[in-house]
Amino acid sequence: MSMIRLPEAKRYPPAGYCIYCKRTPPEVTLSLEHIIPLAINGHLLLPAASCEICAKIINEQFERGFLRDSVIDVRAHLKMRSRSKRRNKELPPSERPGRIARFSDTGAFLEWEQISREDHPFAYVGVTLEAPTILMNKPAKNHITVYGGELYFDKTYYEKTMKIKGRSGLVQNFSPDQLCREIAKIAHGAAIAELGTTFEPFLPPIILGQSSEIFHLVGGAINTEKPTAETHSLSLTVMGGFWVAIVRLFAVLGAPALMAVVGRKR
Ligand SMILES: [Zn+2]
Repeated sequence: MSMIRLPEAKRYPPAGYCIYCKRTPPEVTLSLEHIIPLAINGHLLLPAASCEICAKIINEQFERGFLRDSVIDVRAHLKMRSRSKRRNKELPPSERPGRIARFSDTGAFLEWEQISREDHPFAYVGVTLEAPTILMNKPAKNHITVYGGELYFDKTYYEKTMKIKGRSGLVQNFSPDQLCREIAKIAHGAAIAELGTTFEPFLPPIILGQSSEIFHLVGGAINTEKPTAETHSLSLTVMGGFWVAIVRLFAVLGAPALMAVVGRKR
């Protein structure tokens, strides 16, 4: 079985076309694509690979929400930088206070409270999902089974939690389609960077919001690996005639892997 493990940092040769809509200059202007977002320390670069129209769809439909709501605390605790630091004068996540949710006695959400990052209990929920249905020879369906969430926290978690008065908790946003479209985007970029045009790509309609068969192609992977030294791990392999990307965001914490079927071998 062939297995390609991507390095943590690399600048690939320019794509020269938009890897999502296939348009080329002068019709569109191409920009550099970070295969894993820079905001979560992605350093795999694919120059001249996305047009402004596709970049806007990706940002507005899922990537901005994913980075802001789902991984904001992990970004702060792993001291990740912010791309828009200067542009909107926001503090980078590494310098932002953490946030906790305040609840009423009946359990209703009341408000967000900002507490210093030093006092903020860190926890990250890695979601485990059913495998993509295409790999199980099943038809596409409009739902996905979420097996669970695996909680990763550091050794100061309980000590810090005890210090917080009142009814409160950590809240991490989880949107299956947002998460799976982000995984699809990372997987597609990785496949184009490593395999070029040697495969027939499946994921652009999902990334661009033109297909709702997200969970036919994106889902959970078998994962028994220990935490890694690198922040994320990314690899490509062949399963049943398909190229599949194994995307393990926050592998450094021990988080579970997800996978996306990037396309058919030509
Ligand atoms: Zn495009």
